[in-house]
Amino acid sequence: MVTPRKFARSTVLGLGLLALALPGLPAGAVSQPAGPALVAAAPAAVQPPDIPQDNSMAHARQFQSIATANGGNRAHGRPGYRASADYVKAKLDAAGFTTTLQSFSYNGATGWNVIAEWPHGDANQVVFLGAHLDGVTAGAGINDNASGSSSILEAALAVSRADARPAKRLRFGWWGAEELGLIGSAYYTRTLAATERSKIRSYLNFDMVGAKGTRTWGVYTDNTTLGNTFRAYFSSKGIATRGVSIGGRSDHASFSRYGIAVSGIASGNDPCYHSRCDTITNIEPYVMGHSTNAAAYAAWTLAGVPNLVGAFS
Ligand SMILES: [Zn+2]
Repeated sequence: MVTPRKFARSTVLGLGLLALALPGLPAGAVSQPAGPALVAAAPAAVQPPDIPQDNSMAHARQFQSIATANGGNRAHGRPGYRASADYVKAKLDAAGFTTTLQSFSYNGATGWNVIAEWPHGDANQVVFLGAHLDGVTAGAGINDNASGSSSILEAALAVSRADARPAKRLRFGWWGAEELGLIGSAYYTRTLAATERSKIRSYLNFDMVGAKGTRTWGVYTDNTTLGNTFRAYFSSKGIATRGVSIGGRSDHASFSRYGIAVSGIASGNDPCYHSRCDTITNIEPYVMGHSTNAAAYAAWTLAGVPNLVGAFS
């Protein structure tokens, strides 16, 4: 996340209140006469996966190792950044995604965005999940933002493992040079043809989602409907949420400027923000597990992976 020029962080207290209505079950079993069933049986429900918390932690440990092997950081223009991009792209290529390494130039250095699309579902309706992949030069950048990068990477790999066939198109983005002012995501949306931008139905941002000690998650207040998707996940786990507004301080702003509906989640306070101590011990498996599963839940729900949406209607 970018350091604020003016720190505007409003907190709206609120507990996720979405109740999932299930159809009433009949009081007694009624035997059907032979012949066609009167009511078509609901197709077997495919629930979003329950991703083990160590899955995204394993990616975060890789990002820590990459930083350690490359001068202690994964910042724009430094070898640790390119190694991070190569790691993400290799995982996605092996999982069957259509990937692009998009280059841009900033501050005299080449930066990269990694874009990955799951090649199924309506390409005219794109559900986009994104996270910045770069860190500041001060440290390894593990909560900020190996946490978000790992969470959406693992959610994407879960899509592949499930061999999901969503109604809509799922696209994932790992942005370069966010810490220098949302450079990579702004380059992506600015250079995307207007007709392609108009296909993006929603953008969900994951920036700083692993902070140790988090027990209440922040949900971006930008869009109520998208926010309700995250609230439904956390509510189902008995976890409270609060509204957060981070304004233009992360990559969702590169999408909302074009009128695209945006949301996102954030973990709690990070005392190692932009510091040398933002290492693998700055995040926590429990927190990473829930942020990763919230990303997967949102992907499944918003892209309409059968049959979570519609299974009960
Ligand atoms: Zn940051």
